[in-house]
Amino acid sequence: MHITRVALALAGLLLHASAIYAEDSDVYRLPSNIQPTAQTIDLKLNPSMPDYSGSTVILIDVQEDVERIGIHQLGLEMSAITLTSDGKSRNLDSTIAGYDINWLSDGDTIAAGQYELSIEFTGELAKDSLGMHRSRFEKKDYIFTQFESMYARRAIPTFDEPSFKIPYQLNIEAPEALTVIANAPVMSESTFDGWQRVKFEPTKPLPTYLIAYAVGPMDRAEIKGMSVPGYIYTPVGHADELGFVLSETANIVNALEDYFGSKYPFQKLDFIAVPEFAFGAMENPGLITYRTDLLMLGDNPTGRTAAAALSVIAHEVAHIWYGDVVTMQWWDDLWLNESFASWMGGRIIHQLYPQYETDLRLPQTRAFATDQRTSSKAIRKEVRTEEDSTEGGGLPYTKGKTLLTMLENYVGADVWQRSVRKYIEKFAWNNATEQDLWAVVSAESGLDVGKIAGDYLNQPGFAILDIDKNGAVTQQRYVPAGLEAPDLQWHIPLNVKYKKDDKVQETFYLLEGKSGTIDVPADADWIMPDGGGNGYFRWQTNIDQFYALVDDLAELDNREKIALLDNSDALLNANKLSLADYMFVMNKMLDDPHPLVVLPTIEKVLLIGGAFIGPDNADAFSRFIDAELSERFAEVGIDTGNDDSQALIQMRPRLLRVLGEYGADPAVREAASEMVDRYLESPESVDGNVGLEALRVTALNDDGGRYKKYIDTYLSSTSVDQQSSILSAIYFKDPAIITAFLDFSISDDVPAGDGINGVRYYTGILSDHTVVYKWLEENYDALEAKVPGYMHAFMPQLMVGGCNEKNRALLNSFFENRGEQYQTSLGKALEATDSCIARRARDGDALMEFLAQYN
Ligand SMILES: [Zn+2]
Repeated sequence: MHITRVALALAGLLLHASAIYAEDSDVYRLPSNIQPTAQTIDLKLNPSMPDYSGSTVILIDVQEDVERIGIHQLGLEMSAITLTSDGKSRNLDSTIAGYDINWLSDGDTIAAGQYELSIEFTGELAKDSLGMHRSRFEKKDYIFTQFESMYARRAIPTFDEPSFKIPYQLNIEAPEALTVIANAPVMSESTFDGWQRVKFEPTKPLPTYLIAYAVGPMDRAEIKGMSVPGYIYTPVGHADELGFVLSETANIVNALEDYFGSKYPFQKLDFIAVPEFAFGAMENPGLITYRTDLLMLGDNPTGRTAAAALSVIAHEVAHIWYGDVVTMQWWDDLWLNESFASWMGGRIIHQLYPQYETDLRLPQTRAFATDQRTSSKAIRKEVRTEEDSTEGGGLPYTKGKTLLTMLENYVGADVWQRSVRKYIEKFAWNNATEQDLWAVVSAESGLDVGKIAGDYLNQPGFAILDIDKNGAVTQQRYVPAGLEAPDLQWHIPLNVKYKKDDKVQETFYLLEGKSGTIDVPADADWIMPDGGGNGYFRWQTNIDQFYALVDDLAELDNREKIALLDNSDALLNANKLSLADYMFVMNKMLDDPHPLVVLPTIEKVLLIGGAFIGPDNADAFSRFIDAELSERFAEVGIDTGNDDSQALIQMRPRLLRVLGEYGADPAVREAASEMVDRYLESPESVDGNVGLEALRVTALNDDGGRYKKYIDTYLSSTSVDQQSSILSAIYFKDPAIITAFLDFSISDDVPAGDGINGVRYYTGILSDHTVVYKWLEENYDALEAKVPGYMHAFMPQLMVGGCNEKNRALLNSFFENRGEQYQTSLGKALEATDSCIARRARDGDALMEFLAQYN
């Protein structure tokens, strides 16, 4: 599964109906002495109706005498529950227990043997894009599915655990005019009274979370050049928007087949574009689902848009081998499922499309931000519920990907690839755990990788290394300034780069205890312990060596530079580097020739802007921004040129943003404003990512006169992309417009998922939130009625910003008595605000000192 940025932020806070734990409250797994061996599912589905009906027959192997059979379902009406063996049938009753387990029994012993369990059921189609859900798009109704992690049970009674891998045979009845597709190819079709009955071939053995089907008015286009047949399905009328993805998919699939040394192992490989998808994409074998904006990209997307789509496709198809063919034993290894796909997808995209330089997006920089919290949890942990499985948000993806990359480097790429192939071959069509992977890699490499991996999986957080000028190194757990957490230790492989007597050299060191000594000469000019930029740790050398390193950036590769920048940010947050020193590092990085080194630096500058800049220092900051970046903007311009590198195309939008938001260069504002005119007129005429930032920059610097033009264009636009950009760019600061847009954002003209935009963005960009809270006092209930239910409990975190006592007080007084459900999120929101305020008090003067040079 791929999760989007918003979903990442929301994951772990999803709300669920609380189960009534009538009995067995500690039993959260089904008993292993009853094994399903195959399941047939019959569904009657009409996307225009709110409910549906179905029946299922599950073949089960009862391995010893039992009193009852456990099965999962949630929210379904089950009837006619019958257990049949040797032609004799018994009717069973159902008792609901904890963890969505239903116990089926007639009071008599069920003897060991083979049975057919049949159940009839009815249910309602979900509206929250999880489980079997109904979706309305362009005034037409669809049914889609998303069963990971534990949503199959809301659609069908099943043995809903990943270790039960069995073939499923689906039969779907639906209105005749609609397209019906599923994991497996169609075996036969027939029609009756305006309905069709579609019988699908049985699947290969699958866990329930990978079952997928869809019903609705669709078009399709063929993917050519793969080892199996495949189509991309879209909502009706959109099949001509698939050019780019159609042309690249086979390359990705073929490269993955080469890496794994085996062919794509299912009968077909269809993709489907799903509107209103909670996640980004889902790796159902034979029918991978994607959010529409990852597939419907036209013929020639560029920059981040293209790279992100390719990366998600590679991630999902990589899951086919790890996830689908070899499946985790239980959800505690979800981290491995996701990290493996992220690592593999990243590797393949960098190999096939080096022009996007996706290797310069370091996964650990995102992982650190989450994992440094003292409330962070180990990525391998006990999972009992859906909430447990999604709790870590994106951390299992990013931290796990970093770990796998680190281990691949440690054992060597060839050994790693051989191990992966052996592992897949050994556990094909079965289940495995992380221990199984480490056993194979250790046997191939002769190195104990489990010992290293365990520290990163079973403990939260990460180390900071203190390295003295002669290479003596000590580790402790990294914590941001002002916080405390129990100390921990890790096995840390270090690829150390150092310079001495004008020569850069490298050495390897495995830190196995609290402290040790890296083999570097005494008094090296500088020491960089994160050679390659792959390490999952922070580090500090003495300040002279640090300055020498920053003055010698040309000796580092681009990954190392980005890792150094991020590490400097961490040192600042731990109060181990002054803000003046940090600005010195940033300033060097802003001069870098490579756009993808400058890009993450711009992101850091924007963070400094958000945290530190107010009316008293805005002018000084704007002189710094203009002095360091105006010239670059003049060089690259606002429009994409034919010779632009993909790296430049990725950087340009954010360069425009930082100059337009914090700088004062009239040339930048004019270019943005002129682009807005073109973009509103014809969205295809400009790069959409630049168009979005041009809209924002222009709104920020506008007196409000253009607001109406933005909204009118939104209302009349036929481009979903353009509409979504406009809704993300209402940054006009006129109070009357703020109120007008907040009203608009909860109207029927705005999709539910965007209903929060007004509140979210305005609390992000305004230094005084009074006007927003004034609106909220009158409209909060309407806002909650508008936005998806899973957002409600953490509304306070969606309103963090402004970084001052006044906004803090507004936030606190609004939510503190509003209900128990907001208090956890309010606590986190206040903590974030407090830490920002403290940082400002501590480092504000140092920033002014640094900025003084631009007077
Ligand atoms: Zn995934």
